[in-house]
Amino acid sequence: REPRQDDANYVLYAPALREQEDRLITLENELHQAMKENQFLLYFQPQQRLCDGAMIGAEALLRWQHPTRGVLSPNEFIHLAERTGLIVSIGEWVLTEACIQARQWQEQGHDMLISVNLSARQMQQADFVERVTTILARTGAPPHKVELELTESLLMTDLDRGHDMLCQLKALGLKLAIDDFGTGYSSLAYLKRLPMDTLKIDRRFVSSLPGDKQDGAIVRAILDLAEHLDLNVVAEGVETQAQHDWLKRAGCDVLQGYWYSRPLACSDWVRMVESRPCKALA
Ligand code: C2E
Ligand code: MG
Ligand code: MG
Ligand code: MG
Repeated sequence: REPRQDDANYVLYAPALREQEDRLITLENELHQAMKENQFLLYFQPQQRLCDGAMIGAEALLRWQHPTRGVLSPNEFIHLAERTGLIVSIGEWVLTEACIQARQWQEQGHDMLISVNLSARQMQQADFVERVTTILARTGAPPHKVELELTESLLMTDLDRGHDMLCQLKALGLKLAIDDFGTGYSSLAYLKRLPMDTLKIDRRFVSSLPGDKQDGAIVRAILDLAEHLDLNVVAEGVETQAQHDWLKRAGCDVLQGYWYSRPLACSDWVRMVESRPCKALA
């Protein structure tokens, strides 16, 4: 359609819109290319156990080594990857890499857990459990050292199917966590029904600790709930000593955040793991 003089909105906004659309199309093409040319990488963010300060694992976080724009974070491309369905093959790559890492740690005598983020699109695949089974077999990863992170909205979309699938994943020996806990639309009843191991408290509740009374009350309530349901709790986004101290006193199990370590690129990560004393394997 040709722009018309009287169509002020069209004339004013169309070029900007078209530009945005072009950018999206470019990004989509680049994402396909990225998959083909192995431009994705994983960063690892260490997690610390609060009772003794030990590093007990890491979350695998996706990055894109873009040919011209440097290293991109998921929030710059994950929406598009979800929308186009590319997240399915990207997610499979992430899980495979994480499993290879888990296998390596085990061989090196490091008793550590690796957490992997899952997207809804991945779990919607009819053969998702079989795919995971194949990846575990191919990589030889110890399943109990791999944790899958799911969000509440992902869990709530189809609770019955979700329940069956999670039980099958548990039966493979995997650990299951709820990511960004407290931010989704969900009822607490599902916590009782689903075979979860871990709650990850969203950093929105952590960031204003210890000053904010309301966030403090929410975090305490989550810790209490978790204790009674026998779930582990990881506090996300811990940035200060005061937050660490507060969480430790409140009885939180594990923390993750800039205070302990930023997400690390592979070489920094290897250095960190190597400086860690091996724990004798039971
Ligand atoms: P998430 O799973 O909740 O991961 C935690 C995010 O918080 C990471 O952002 C991490 O870098 C950031 N973070 C950690 N500590 C701190 C802190 O102390 N302060 C602040 N301000 N931020 C902190 P990142 O790596 O940019 O990832 C963003 C989100 O992208 C993740 O949130 C996750 O939902 C998604 N994502 C990351 N990797 C994957 C993946 O492999 N697959 C899928 N489907 N999603 C992924
Ligand atoms: Mg996560
Ligand atoms: Mg999170
Ligand atoms: Mg507990």
